[in-house]
Amino acid sequence: MQDKISYQSANVIPVKVIYDKKLVNSLHNKKVIPRVFQITPTNACDLNCVYCCCGEIDRKEKLSIEQLKEITDIAVKVGVKAFVITGGGEPMVHPNILEFIDYAHSKNIKLALITNGNHFKDDMIETLSKLQWCRISFDDYRKIDEKYRNTLSVVKKIKNVNFSFSYMYDGNPDSDFLKIINIANSFDNISHVRIVNDSLSEKYIDTMTAKEKLDKNNIDTSKCFFKYQQQYGAGQKKCYMSLLKPRIVASGDVYPCCAIQYQEKNGLKKYNKVFSMGHYSDIPNMIENQRFFNGNICNQCYYENYNKFLGYYLEPEKITDKEFI
Ligand code: SF4
Ligand code: SF4
Repeated sequence: MQDKISYQSANVIPVKVIYDKKLVNSLHNKKVIPRVFQITPTNACDLNCVYCCCGEIDRKEKLSIEQLKEITDIAVKVGVKAFVITGGGEPMVHPNILEFIDYAHSKNIKLALITNGNHFKDDMIETLSKLQWCRISFDDYRKIDEKYRNTLSVVKKIKNVNFSFSYMYDGNPDSDFLKIINIANSFDNISHVRIVNDSLSEKYIDTMTAKEKLDKNNIDTSKCFFKYQQQYGAGQKKCYMSLLKPRIVASGDVYPCCAIQYQEKNGLKKYNKVFSMGHYSDIPNMIENQRFFNGNICNQCYYENYNKFLGYYLEPEKITDKEFI
């Protein structure tokens, strides 16, 4: 069974870095190269979740298929290995999402999709089978309906993709939480359920109370991991993540990570241009000139471990007595 660290990047030991030989070689040469692009194809969404961290963005903004192909070509040029196709906004409502997945797959990019689970249909199976993993979100206030059931029936038929659920737990006694965990436990191709709280809410919800609820109902929790989103560190002046795993949003802007909406007190629920690193067409220059984002302005960093690890790797002179591991 996989260690659950396989399914996470924020707030974990950055172990995947040492498995990436090309990245390690590049770090030896004091250069951070991009390995993942997080891409938001569209801001449009068919839902209106109260906790949406992008609730105040311009929902009409989207990248055209030509732009998505151009981003893919840039990715290939700069050595990116994988895309996470994500929101805010629902990627599956983009009119050319399947064409984009097919195109990126044809360029040997590994693909992941984060979706709200309302849109899968049988005629999408061929393209969806090209994903490496897919995380389907749900929350304490949605109910399992026809659209979600359709998606689940498609999921059941795609055996080669690693599916998972992300569940926003808020302590609602009338939720479908137990049903969702039971569904996850009954699907061989659903590897895990990530249970989180609303990180922008003032309300204190300990996700371990979700575990208590499951235990009380004798539901197997071996697929679950419980995250507490208020655990974060400080931003770092040289934010290495900003070049390792930049985020490209529907406006075409590049942002340094997926947590920029959380940097404003009380949550801005949209992207503040202060955090923009420029247009995606400038990414090759950003890499060439190692133009890192200055994370001194960030007060909620979920990638502190990554940034510290990469910092020590790139500045080995800061560490003495290296023989004494
Ligand atoms: S499904 Fe995702 S993008 Fe859409 S409103 Fe909900 S949280 Fe926001
Ligand atoms: S929160 Fe700031 S310092 Fe941390 S990864 Fe994001 S941009 Fe970088």
